[in-house]
Amino acid sequence: MTQSVSKTLAGKTALVTGSTSGIGLGIATALAQAGANLVLNGFGDVQGALAQIEAAGAQAVHHGADMTKPAEIEAMIAFATERFGALDVLVNNAGIQHVATIDEFPVDRWDAIIAINLSSAFHTMRVALPAMRARGWGRVINIASVHGLVGSAGKSAYVAAKHGILGLTKVAALENARTGVTVNAICPGFVLTPLVQKQIDDLAARESLCADAARAKLLGEKQPSAQFVTPQQIGDMAVFLCSDAASEMRGSALQIDGGWSAQ
Ligand code: NAD
Repeated sequence: MTQSVSKTLAGKTALVTGSTSGIGLGIATALAQAGANLVLNGFGDVQGALAQIEAAGAQAVHHGADMTKPAEIEAMIAFATERFGALDVLVNNAGIQHVATIDEFPVDRWDAIIAINLSSAFHTMRVALPAMRARGWGRVINIASVHGLVGSAGKSAYVAAKHGILGLTKVAALENARTGVTVNAICPGFVLTPLVQKQIDDLAARESLCADAARAKLLGEKQPSAQFVTPQQIGDMAVFLCSDAASEMRGSALQIDGGWSAQ
């Protein structure tokens, strides 16, 4: 469980895209523990995610917008505003991965990764930012990746999308620099979520490794600490970005990657 206990976000409403699983659910939980109302989004175990947020003492609702569909994204922002009166914190987290070399990369996977991991953040921000500015306070947190800063073979679409979202973060931060709305990005290294478990399973099958050996190999190739970052740690970083202490952080890319990008 996260250590966030003071209700610094009481009365605020947060929307976290892709928050039925992994990092998004960890962030939503930390924001809920800090007192925010939550709008969850994503597929899969919606009821389990809602129950986890309610157990953290927050009001939570779910909107099933598909992040590849701009009209559904617009409807989700309107839903959040109608349900809780305003949207104060927007976390662009939904993301998918596909690993293949460029010449073998399926075109539909390229399009889906760019849509979900990059374009969806443009669509949420273009709809949500005007109301945040009008209210004089807002926080946008884009979940990029260490792959926003460095590349890895086989991850062309993901790396392109994550480099792109760091650029988008800088522009959005500059366009709002004289307002109470900040826009920043978090750049995690490996976190043990379903997105990474699939890469471990694929590595184990490809190289005939047991699960433990595949996990150690994947981490060992990139992450000097040899430890996974946790969703709770990223959630606590998101709560910090919502604090007054972070009000002059604008356009930052915060690494939390076990030393990956220090190499
Ligand atoms: P995950 O697979 O556990 O969760 C992904 C979430 O996105 C789920 O809630 C899923 O339902 C949702 N989602 C997928 N497609 C969607 C769509 N079309 N519309 C709406 N929601 C959709 O993955 P995760 O590892 O928690 O990743 C979350 C974010 O963190 C991603 O942006 C990912 O790139 C980033 N990230 C992950 C890692 C890692 O090691 N796991 C590292 C760095 C950055």
